[in-house]
Amino acid sequence: MGEDMKVIVADSINEQGIDNLKEVADVVVDTDITPEELLNTIGEYEGIIVRSRTKVTREVIENGKKLKIIARAGVGVDNVDMEAATEKGVMVVNSPDSTSITVAEHTLGLMLAAATKIAIADKSVKENKWEKKKFMGVELRNKTLGVIGMGRIGSQVVSRCKAFEMDTIVYDPYLPQEVAKQMGVQLTDLETVLEKADFITIHVPLTDETRHLISTKEIEMMKDDAFLINCARGGIIDEDALYEGLSNNKLGGAALDVFENEPPEKSKLFELDNIVCTPHIAASTIEAQRDAAIIVANEVIKVFEGGTPKNVLNMPVVDSKTFEKIKPYLTLSKKLGSFIAQAITGQIKELEIVYGGELGNTPNQDILTRTILQGVLNPVLNDPINMINAPTIAKDRGINIIEGKTSDAKGYDSIIKVKGISEDDEFSVEGTDLHEPKIIKINDYWVDVKPEGHMFIAKYYDVPGAIGAIGTKLGERDINIGIMQVGREIAGGKAIMILTVDQKVPDDVIEEVKNLDNVLEAVRLKLQ
Ligand code: NAD
Repeated sequence: MGEDMKVIVADSINEQGIDNLKEVADVVVDTDITPEELLNTIGEYEGIIVRSRTKVTREVIENGKKLKIIARAGVGVDNVDMEAATEKGVMVVNSPDSTSITVAEHTLGLMLAAATKIAIADKSVKENKWEKKKFMGVELRNKTLGVIGMGRIGSQVVSRCKAFEMDTIVYDPYLPQEVAKQMGVQLTDLETVLEKADFITIHVPLTDETRHLISTKEIEMMKDDAFLINCARGGIIDEDALYEGLSNNKLGGAALDVFENEPPEKSKLFELDNIVCTPHIAASTIEAQRDAAIIVANEVIKVFEGGTPKNVLNMPVVDSKTFEKIKPYLTLSKKLGSFIAQAITGQIKELEIVYGGELGNTPNQDILTRTILQGVLNPVLNDPINMINAPTIAKDRGINIIEGKTSDAKGYDSIIKVKGISEDDEFSVEGTDLHEPKIIKINDYWVDVKPEGHMFIAKYYDVPGAIGAIGTKLGERDINIGIMQVGREIAGGKAIMILTVDQKVPDDVIEEVKNLDNVLEAVRLKLQ
């Protein structure tokens, strides 16, 4: 430790972070460094700090023979080759908490600007007008705040809105009731939030599930004088539907920091008076930048002092031989976790994980379990869950984990079984690796399915015509079926159908299938 540790700061970060680092390391700040220069000099450094400009490619990591840590001051790590870092035993850290307060405050700013007409009145005054009567606002007090997504930012917004004497209702299907209770909020469904809230604010990640979460139907359900605020990601609100809603006064107003296309060229939304817009700056404050720098500097210091940083995004491999052995099962694990998270109805309260055959005896089960948890949690949360904090996040989300092993691998070398249990459902999936991941069992039914792409699962009673009726519903909407497999307990008993399909099965088709006689449940999944 001490003088000989060298860190390069390759993108500009706040001085305070650099000062902290200088106390324990030899710091070189070169924020104009070119990719070639970085390749040539990275071998000297134990640590590198970047924002988004510098690309930490596989070549950089391979040349960084002494490299221990790559730190991203901020959140997204698209500019870091995570796989190469993991393979080469280099830790990657970021600072996901640095922007939560800033974004929450910006959300409040937009809510107030929309409710009290600040932005449009400002424009009018600067045009030398004095239109006192035109700008009639509304108070936040005693209004209902509807929060969609109660994560880091959503929860900060809620605590600030309490000061404005607002009542809060929350839609977050992945937040357990107990956690919501501790936070002092009332969980409800999306429809209730849309129908009851006066101000609706969105704080979910952009996922397949949340793309166009708010479109024409949802806007129709909202109160005529409701306000809609989005500081999360563009694409969650359907902007054409929003334009219709705002221009027909179906909504009181809206405020956006994020857009479907950024920058949004010539959006018709800009012609409207009842919308306030900012150019994706919700996270841009001096404090957020300072905190990002301080957080990552402290993480680097922790590593140099032999400690474990908080925000590690990968689990660097120590022994490459072991890694090669479990590598295929890492892919399988992530897919099984993601499968269960999507297939089960309700919030997962318990996960049972069983390793069978050779895997039952590997000392690396912990890495596999953490990878399964990443699969379970990733479609739901904003940042990639890292292997280090996956168990803690699962615990925070009220998920109890039970691990076991069995010598019975059902004829395969190794198998992994993941069973999810929620308040009102149970779902299990078993898989193996035969040169590629494969699902071999779903609940009690043997299947043979490649876990990839769009899928559709229906549980139904095995009566003549049931399979045909489901297939017809999909066919009517031109949904092409790739592979269909069915499994049943006994003739006439409960059965399961698993389909691979060429496109996402729309919500209304799922509803129609669910409403068919003899169908018990229908879900769609997407596996990467
Ligand atoms: P987070 O991961 O802490 O929380 C996300 C929450 O959304 C979780 O509680 C999760 O359970 C919930 N969720 C997931 N899918 C859902 C669904 N379909 N319906 C309802 N709830 C769902 O994330 P965060 O740090 O609070 O970030 C929230 C959003 O803010 C993200 O979209 C992020 O990209 C965005 N963000 C924007 C800016 C900006 O500059 N405007 C800056 C930072 C973050």
